[in-house]
Amino acid sequence: MQQDRDALIVGAGPAGLALAIALADAGFTATVLDAQPREALAAPAEDGRDIALTHASAATLRALGLWQRLLPEEIGCIKEARVIDGDWQDRALSFSPQGSGSDVLGWIVPNHALRRVSFAAAAERPGLQLLDSAQVLRVGTEPGRVQLDFETSPGMPRQLQGRLFVAADSRFSWSRKQLGIAADMHDFGRVMIVCRMRHDFPHGDVAYECFGYERTLAVLPAVGHVSSVVVTADAAAASQLLALPEQAFAALVERQFRSRLGRMQLLGKRFPYPLVAAYARRFVAQRSALVGDAAVGMHPVTAHGYNLGLQSVASLVHALCEARAAQQDISAAEVLAGYERAHRRDAAPIYHGTNAVARLYASTGAPQRLARQLLLRGAQHLPPLKAAITARLTGRGGLQLPGTTA
Ligand SMILES: Cc1cc2nc3c(=O)[nH]c(=O)nc-3n(C[C@H](O)[C@H](O)[C@H](O)COP(=O)(O)OP(=O)(O)OC[C@H]3O[C@@H](n4cnc5c(N)ncnc54)[C@H](O)[C@@H]3O)c2cc1C
Repeated sequence: MQQDRDALIVGAGPAGLALAIALADAGFTATVLDAQPREALAAPAEDGRDIALTHASAATLRALGLWQRLLPEEIGCIKEARVIDGDWQDRALSFSPQGSGSDVLGWIVPNHALRRVSFAAAAERPGLQLLDSAQVLRVGTEPGRVQLDFETSPGMPRQLQGRLFVAADSRFSWSRKQLGIAADMHDFGRVMIVCRMRHDFPHGDVAYECFGYERTLAVLPAVGHVSSVVVTADAAAASQLLALPEQAFAALVERQFRSRLGRMQLLGKRFPYPLVAAYARRFVAQRSALVGDAAVGMHPVTAHGYNLGLQSVASLVHALCEARAAQQDISAAEVLAGYERAHRRDAAPIYHGTNAVARLYASTGAPQRLARQLLLRGAQHLPPLKAAITARLTGRGGLQLPGTTA
């Protein structure tokens, strides 16, 4: 049995790996276990998701050495974002980085690329152990230690012991349940279809969110004449959209986008994601913490899930480093309570705000239409609100390891 790792992390997704790398860089020992085989973790298959990243997230990825591993053709950039309501009568709301000290609002990177570079970086860190094809059988958290029972080959049980257990195994987290932590789940009854499309005209690094009355369309600038396209519709309509032949689907997107980018052509597969949000009632338990989607699984409409996941990583690492500096036990209740407070402060407004936006834009009744128009027009003419949203995207922050400066 391996003794006393500082952290035992279940889930080698982008959040679990970012945490493991940050802990290793801060001088902690960590073991990460994932159910997937090594080949799938090292060379993740495309999943259609393109992740919009804030400045704080990009800073964290740089600090962890992940950004530097991305290929130039994997980093799209957003210089302006436009939100359009209903029938394109007017451009309701637009955001630019003006006044933020940067000429970029954020970046777009494919999820599989983030997973690939995270795994590659983690595999090179001394002090970090990666166990693939792992089926965790039991999580035991006791006052003095954490014990994990797992197997990587059927019928060959193994054990690990550590100081802190971390659940990073997705919004449907199995570990969260093992810890006895309930989560509020919200099924929106809608499905997001994501894909990449090539188009005739340049996108000019502008991201569009078009809240139509039947479905929502987001068109996010990737590299070259390629965009990441996200169509959200109720479950029945989404099934029909997925069943459409490629050309008919492309024509429908092009029509809803008013041919702004000229002819559009599907590149590769369409990937459906049923929309279910999750918010854990607690982010910590005895000697344990939740990070990433296991803590808060966001509706993707505001593109904040991974950004918030990286914030959870930064907050937890900060709490652990402070505890170590004060010669405290890193999984003492008061240390974890500090993490809980910090992450709840970050997560609550964005989670509840996002759900409210998602519900408003899923409704097609007359009062909701009016509310949408008033909201967007109001926001356009409310400089403090626009400035606050822009600051959220471009604001400094991110992970700070001991001995580094912002
Ligand atoms: C369509 C879509 C678009 C999105 N767009 C954005 C965006 O623009 N910006 C943004 O910030 N976020 C976005 N997100 C959210 C982002 O993808 C997630 O927040 C992020 O992937 C969560 O990372 P994670 O590591 O917490 O969980 P996951 O990515 O779900 O990884 C969990 C890991 O745990 C492993 N695992 C699961 N169960 C077990 C188990 N029992 N034992 C062992 N291992 C297990 C899995 O194999 C996996 O490797 C989007 C999400 C979707 C669906």
